[in-house]
Amino acid sequence: TTAYLGRIEAAGALNAFVSVTPELALQSAEESDRRLAAGEARPLEGVPLGVKDLFCTKGVETTAASKILGGFSPTYESTVTANLFADGAVMLGKLNMDEFAMGSSNETAASGPVVNPWKRAGLETKLTPGGSSGGSSAAVAAQLVAGATGTDTGGSIRQPASFTGTVGIKPTYGRCSRWGIVAFASSLDQAGPIARDVKDASLLLQSMAGYDPKDSTSVDRPVPDYMASLEKGIKGLKIGVPKEYRLDGMPSDIDSLWQQGMEWLRSAGAEIKEVSLPLTKYALPVYYIVAPAEASSNLARYDGVRYGLRVEDDDIQEMYARTRAEGFGAEVKRRILIGTYVLSAGYYDAYYLQAQKVRKRIFDEMSGVLEDVDLLLTPSTPSAAFGLGEKSDDPLAMYLNDIFTVTANLAGLPGISVPAGLDGQGLPLGLQLIGRPFDEETVFRGAAVLE
Ligand code: GLN
Repeated sequence: TTAYLGRIEAAGALNAFVSVTPELALQSAEESDRRLAAGEARPLEGVPLGVKDLFCTKGVETTAASKILGGFSPTYESTVTANLFADGAVMLGKLNMDEFAMGSSNETAASGPVVNPWKRAGLETKLTPGGSSGGSSAAVAAQLVAGATGTDTGGSIRQPASFTGTVGIKPTYGRCSRWGIVAFASSLDQAGPIARDVKDASLLLQSMAGYDPKDSTSVDRPVPDYMASLEKGIKGLKIGVPKEYRLDGMPSDIDSLWQQGMEWLRSAGAEIKEVSLPLTKYALPVYYIVAPAEASSNLARYDGVRYGLRVEDDDIQEMYARTRAEGFGAEVKRRILIGTYVLSAGYYDAYYLQAQKVRKRIFDEMSGVLEDVDLLLTPSTPSAAFGLGEKSDDPLAMYLNDIFTVTANLAGLPGISVPAGLDGQGLPLGLQLIGRPFDEETVFRGAAVLE
């Protein structure tokens, strides 16, 4: 813990943390020392982790990287972090992220962007570590933490993992409790780990996952031994390659890596099959209706009364309005506007209801294909990490980052990003495996081969 705290201090320029909690960390590390000495080690005894600032941590400021939550110190612990701490993990601090997890580059954070520890060969341009879990991915890649928690609503674990050469898994919707995680889009949000390798990711998910009566969408199914599954290999598995994921203008490095991934899986005994998912092209538009709709509803609670920031005014309506005007950043306001619009009486049927119908069809199409194959293999992202500032003025270009990841969220399926190689400029690229509901085991088995 002391060594990691030193590394965090030295790497301040990455801006990966919104707060570091050395006293708390050293206190739990001492408890871990005691347990280790007594031969009573728990599964994650003394493992120093970072926690995305979207997870409520008891007595530790939790801001979701938003001004509006400034000074909010929860009186309770999220179930996922409580599970990790109960297994002996030590929290080093809270990790930076896009504001309310809305973004793909960590640039919407009130706490400022995070810098990717990776650079293009020979160039000094600062790159994004991805988003929204950009603090998590950068901290793991720079070895400021042994692992981190993330959340993924449309790709926010897998895209940052892909941009930083780390492993990130979004489990099945319902696998990890959402209780105590600041809500973005409740029907899409899932917690998961970002880690250095597949084995670490399996260990962390083991601890994070499990039924929680406090989250009505959490599912009461036993959590299998994920680490044991890594040894099982993939002989005889059928792996689908969806042809609609081959985009025009996609960098050739990504395509070659994808081919390479198929080769690795085939050599390990899997059968590779081309499959078709024609509704893929609707996933991004559907996501950018459903996610803002749910966000606009979830964010209604930030009114200057219950949490964090209040901009005082004698008139209560003015107080609400001024608090929200000052407290939310531009991207969050954009989502609230879009969400409110698509839910409004005159447009509900045309946008929100229609999007829900298409979402159901996407789910059915995915389920149909996954009856035939055990896993799907795709690239994680349509590009490698891009420069800070490169896309921040163009929301649509930013949203395109999520093109390969949102389908798993819309259909509630588990998806992992595994670092599979480097592009021509020496930047990491990830491959994604998507599995059947609650079959993270097979996802891990495939990931262990790709790694
Ligand atoms: N980039 C997507 C968005 O901005 C996904 C974010 C996420 O998964 N939290 O909504």
